[in-house]
Parts: sequence; C-alpha cells; structure tokens
Amino acid sequence: MLPGLRYPPGPAVLVVGHPGHELRVHRWLEVCRPRVHVLTDGSGRDRSARLGETTAVLTGAGATPGSVYGRISDAAVYTNLLSGRVDGFIALAEELADDFRDAGWVIADAAEGYNPTHDLCRMIVDAALRRLGRPLPNFEFVLAPGAPEGPAALSLELEDDALARKLAAARGYRGLQAEVTAVERLGIDALRREVLSPARPASESRDPPFYETFGRTRVADGQYGRPILYRPHVVHVADALRRWQKAA
Ligand SMILES: [Zn+2]
Repeated sequence: MLPGLRYPPGPAVLVVGHPGHELRVHRWLEVCRPRVHVLTDGSGRDRSARLGETTAVLTGAGATPGSVYGRISDAAVYTNLLSGRVDGFIALAEELADDFRDAGWVIADAAEGYNPTHDLCRMIVDAALRRLGRPLPNFEFVLAPGAPEGPAALSLELEDDALARKLAAARGYRGLQAEVTAVERLGIDALRREVLSPARPASESRDPPFYETFGRTRVADGQYGRPILYRPHVVHVADALRRWQKAA
C-alpha cells in the first residue's frame, strides 16, 4: 500500500472485458495485487498469445489470474449479442457473484459506449454485485481514447520508476504495439496518472453509442455483416441480467 492513500479493506478484484486492459492500471496492480478476471480471450489475432501476455503482466506486478480467464471469444460475444443468446453472459455474472463473496472492493471497465464488450463487462459486474446483496465499493477506469473520466475516487501519480515498469510491460505485450505507439505519440505522461472513479451504470452510456454508429458505417462499407445495436441487442442482455439479479 502507498502512504497517504486509503483503500477499502479486503481483497481487491479487477474484472476486464479484454486482455490488455490491465495495463491501464499497472501501478494499481502492483500496489493492491488484485485477482484479475478477463472475460474474453483477446482473439482476433492470436488467441492464446494475448492471454499469455496478460498472465506475464499480472505475475510481474504481483497480481493473480482469476477463475474467469478468457472464457469467451470476441466472435462469440458478437454472435450471442446478435442472436439474443444471454445464457453465457448470465453464467459469467453467476460465477463472478460467487467470486465476489470474499472481495473487499471491485474495479472493472467503464461503460463508455465505445466497445460492446467493455459495456457488457460493466453490466455483468454490476449485476453480480447486486445479486451478491452486500454493498461493495465499485470502481471503473476509462479505456476509450479521450473518454471523459468520472470524479477521481482514487488516483495514483506514477513516479519515474513505476512509469518505466508500466512502459516496459506495455512495450513487451505482443499484439498491442499499435496502441502503445499511439500512446507514445500522445506523450507518455498520459500513462503517469491512474484514476479510479465510482462506477457509473451502463444504462447512462450515450444512445446511440459510438460502437453502433461505427458498426453501421462498416456495414455500409461492406466490411461488417450486421452491426451491434444498443437497441435491441445490448438492452436485451441488460434486461436479462436485471431479471436474473432479482431472482436470487
Ligand atoms: Zn478492450
């Protein structure tokens, strides 16, 4: 723990939609040593490789992989959203609710309307916490480029040595080179601050969200078959999670 900062008591748990998100809170991983659940396997390029990279980051920072670790492919997330299949998402919420029993606090992706998997991650975590029936401190961190942060509940300013370790972890992460280069072009000082904000519910995300507008453009270009839409696809999962969390 760092002097001068107060953290909630009890074990910290991090839940991310994609492998690689953990790099955004690398210093926090080092300080709080959470167990880390990763919903998807980062497929698209090299499936197993990306989870392996995340394991290396977690081990290097003193954090631990959780029981949910690359459970579903991104392709399956999209297929399930488009076809209205919710059982896989409910099963993830069920498992996380179980895992949260001994947790002291939870951190997960922010719902930014940027990527459906990030928003689903937030929805699943919030449903699992409500099902748990015990209030736990619940924080988010932003991922989308230029996304507005909520008020800082906990923020870390990285010293040069911590920033150097974070940069080394990011540069060593195969499959994220383009993202790392983009950040370096913006200036690595953008990586110096890690902000955790009180979680905002996914239902407050913009409507239509960015992923919907972007998806429609891709369909028009002939690059996508069907876009993920906030209504009905994402709202259908939100409704199913709400029914499940009340059925305890
Ligand atoms: Zn992502």
